[in-house]
Amino acid sequence: MHILHSAKFLKSAASLRDMPADHGWEVAFAGRSNAGKSSALNVLASHKGLARVSKTPGRTQLLNVFSIDDDRRLIDLPGYGYAKVPVGVRDQWRGMVDGFLRNREALKGLILIMDSRHPLKDFDRQMLDYAAGIAKPCHVLLTKADKLSRNVATSTLNAVRKELGADGSDDAKVSVQLFSAPAKTGLDEARAVIARWLEITIPGKSQSRALPPQ
Ligand code: GDP
Repeated sequence: MHILHSAKFLKSAASLRDMPADHGWEVAFAGRSNAGKSSALNVLASHKGLARVSKTPGRTQLLNVFSIDDDRRLIDLPGYGYAKVPVGVRDQWRGMVDGFLRNREALKGLILIMDSRHPLKDFDRQMLDYAAGIAKPCHVLLTKADKLSRNVATSTLNAVRKELGADGSDDAKVSVQLFSAPAKTGLDEARAVIARWLEITIPGKSQSRALPPQ
């Protein structure tokens, strides 16, 4: 069983003051609405209903927090791109996400969800620039890869990697992979990145760092 399996919904935060204390390790998930963020979270945690809360009316614009253990959390950032959100609400949520990304010490990396059929839209580029600006690594999941032929999926992956200068090393600031929730494509690869950022040792995986002394 993978460690992400123990992820449980902890709370929805309407403001940064509502967030759990800023300690330990966190990985945040971001993406345009409908890109497949909830599906990716559910399948990564092997928990069908985990991210249901993120879809609950009234909670789509909150920071939804899932705890893995006392020191490790997954943060589901509000999906971007709801067409009918009033400007005031949008600005408020942008401010909250901005404040979270900029100031959160526990945040170790960002998983950016993109639909593999339409990668690198404006929002995606803004998030990548943002992550680079705050010196946090970003791992891109090109989701819905099951909707592409193998050839198109591979060429999309290569094109996005090339464009982002993702060189494939563990220490790269940007990395990219194909993902499919229903086909479970890319699950191990994505989990390995998250485990590395959360400093969880996976038996037999030498690239993960050992847990620090308690
Ligand atoms: P979110 O708004 O980013 O959280 O997106 P959802 O996870 O709710 O997914 C939006 C829609 O895309 C839903 O109908 C999902 O079933 C579908 N979807 C998500 N991921 C995949 C995937 O990898 N493959 C396919 N074929 N459909 C997907």
